[in-house]
Amino acid sequence: MIYHHVALNVPLDTLLTYAHPEALPVGVRVAVPFRGKTVAGVVWAADVAPEVDKAKILPVTAVLDEWVLPDNWRAMMAFAARYYLYPLGQVVFAALPQGLRQPKPVALPEKPLRFCLSEAGQAGAAPRHAKQAALWQALASGSLTRAQAKAVHSRADALLAQWQQQGDVCASADAAHGAVPPTPYTLNADQQAAADAVRAAAGFAPFLLHGITGSGKTEVYFDIMAKVLAAGRQVLFLLPEINLTPQLLARLQRRFPHTATAVLHSQAAAGARTRDYLRALNGDAALIVGTRLAVFTPLADLGLVVVDEEHDGSFKQDSELRYQARDLALWRAQQAGCPVVLGSATPSLESWHKAQSGRYTLLSLNRRAHAAARLPQIGLADVRRQPLEHGFSARALQLLRDNYAAGGMSLVYINRRGFAPALFCGDCGHAFGCPHCSAKMVLHQQARQLRCHHCDFRQPVPHICPDCGNQDLSAIGHGTQRVEAYLREVLPGAAVVRVDRDNTANKQDWSDVYARIHGGAVDVLVGTQMLAKGHDFARLNLVVVLNADGSLYSADFRAPERLFAELMQVAGRAGRADSPGRVLVQTRLRDHAVYQALKAQDYRRFADAELQAREAMQLPPFAYTAAVRADAPEADEALAFLRLLTEEMQAGADNGFALPPEVSLFGPVPMLMSRLAGRSRAQVFLESAERRALHRALALCKQLLLHYEKTHRQVRWVIDVDPADM
Ligand code: ADP
Ligand code: ZN
Repeated sequence: MIYHHVALNVPLDTLLTYAHPEALPVGVRVAVPFRGKTVAGVVWAADVAPEVDKAKILPVTAVLDEWVLPDNWRAMMAFAARYYLYPLGQVVFAALPQGLRQPKPVALPEKPLRFCLSEAGQAGAAPRHAKQAALWQALASGSLTRAQAKAVHSRADALLAQWQQQGDVCASADAAHGAVPPTPYTLNADQQAAADAVRAAAGFAPFLLHGITGSGKTEVYFDIMAKVLAAGRQVLFLLPEINLTPQLLARLQRRFPHTATAVLHSQAAAGARTRDYLRALNGDAALIVGTRLAVFTPLADLGLVVVDEEHDGSFKQDSELRYQARDLALWRAQQAGCPVVLGSATPSLESWHKAQSGRYTLLSLNRRAHAAARLPQIGLADVRRQPLEHGFSARALQLLRDNYAAGGMSLVYINRRGFAPALFCGDCGHAFGCPHCSAKMVLHQQARQLRCHHCDFRQPVPHICPDCGNQDLSAIGHGTQRVEAYLREVLPGAAVVRVDRDNTANKQDWSDVYARIHGGAVDVLVGTQMLAKGHDFARLNLVVVLNADGSLYSADFRAPERLFAELMQVAGRAGRADSPGRVLVQTRLRDHAVYQALKAQDYRRFADAELQAREAMQLPPFAYTAAVRADAPEADEALAFLRLLTEEMQAGADNGFALPPEVSLFGPVPMLMSRLAGRSRAQVFLESAERRALHRALALCKQLLLHYEKTHRQVRWVIDVDPADM
């Protein structure tokens, strides 16, 4: 018997050992018995020395497939398991599509036949008939599948057969991928410089492509992709779920009509996802487009990675395996020795910092690509000491009325993200900060307290503003429904449509709304951040932002960064076509750096100021962080559980679990939502300027947590490395 380590979808930190008469190839899927059931596993190592009694080792039930998951893919799994301190088997299964998680054989999809001109064909003359010549031309520039040929000429079947017989065309399943037509535009100077820089790169080379919405980033990606695809290599193109729209796919299809494309995202039908996953693995798909989960696709020959909207929060998964797809994408590019392009109008401060310090090459697009498209005008409405009508200032209402009268379309944008209930002074804008840390205090209505979620300082809700003596302190919040109803009232006759999670829960609802907008049937849209991204509304020329301040009172240090990105994005929605747009942001904090930079539409200014503040407070990207979170049914039980951890690590040097001196530990404190789904929740923060020291500390944490959980069965815990939220 030969013994094998096999990765299973179980929360165990070790791999299991199974026996088989012959050595199995690593990376092959197998069926094995586990706790009385047959489950799927992936062979991780063959010919291992068994650590347990050989008599107790069970045999592999069946070898499932004739293909294997490649070594470079397994190396990524091992890295992710280490980095995110997550069981390897569960990483492996998180990375597999549903169709490969069951103990059932799955065959590799057959590669379709591809047709191209033979040497004789290339030497020969094209047919004179115009449509036939078009097909001939297409074949001359690269290979086509039968379906692609039919799209060029309806009688392609017969023509291909005839030309094959003449010896002008040959067919093979291994022919190089389809031809890539040249860029339809002449790139402008900035675009060309960016594309050239990436092309000139040899081996692993990270780039940050910074350019406002409409500056032509996508055309730069396409231009670089074209070269890599033409060389027969694969491209991994990641983008936020919300941007993976039919419009984007159609644009890709138009640009790369003959390229075999795999589309991977969580909403894809299970069968299609498995098939596309395997087409990428066997090299049949050349262009792999998808959301964060696509970063786990096994790739035969990766030549380029693109991460569009790299700052977007959706690249971070916030349950189970808490991975950051942008970071893994960089790791993959490094492993493959290829360029990686991160693109954004408002890069994450992590990426911007790396570009500033020279670890990434910064590429900038400084203008909108369409000569006619002008930047929106952004104005700030100072709404301190102003009576608001249902949240609207007189100026905002006037703009909305005028725009409706002039036949324009408006967006009323309500910011709710990163939004902790907070207290502020409506007169002077005073916000309540924690006297002990940099965090803002969070309002706990029921307890009638302000609390710091960083250090747990608490105070009763004050009744008077300490700055100006105003006695009318208010909590922040506006509902989309109330705003919608009010707009109907003040704009009689206008078609007002609200878009939020409640009324666009499914795709159909959203495409209905979308169709109405494009049909010109909507005068005013009311909505939340769902509307900020990815959609092009040609007629939209006015954006009113109601309560943006909310997130600046948030306890999360990333709140200003998110707000800035979101508002820049919303502003980018206005006036994308040939009419310039207007944006009005209502605020009580007009002097805040976020708004001043927004008004100037100056990302650099914002980023530089914010990075300075982060550096002063030793926050990311100047420090690395991790959170250990726990939840439990009883009140305070999660806190008590984590206290075991912090006390043990801070107890002293000789228990073997001492916190490394380079690492600071904060907490435990209750989470922002201190109770959720009937469980109390708490967390501990770890922070260090050294990544390695942080990981050493986390490894100790994990050992301790695994030990405590044996006696605290009702407690659940997770480790979140590089957490996105405080
Ligand atoms: P971004 O990805 O930065 O938002 P896009 O690449 O989508 O920008 O470009 C915005 C618009 O400008 C698109 O309609 C695109 O087709 C057009 N465009 C991009 N580059 C050029 C160019 N060099 N010449 C003419 N039009 C361009
Ligand atoms: Zn505090």
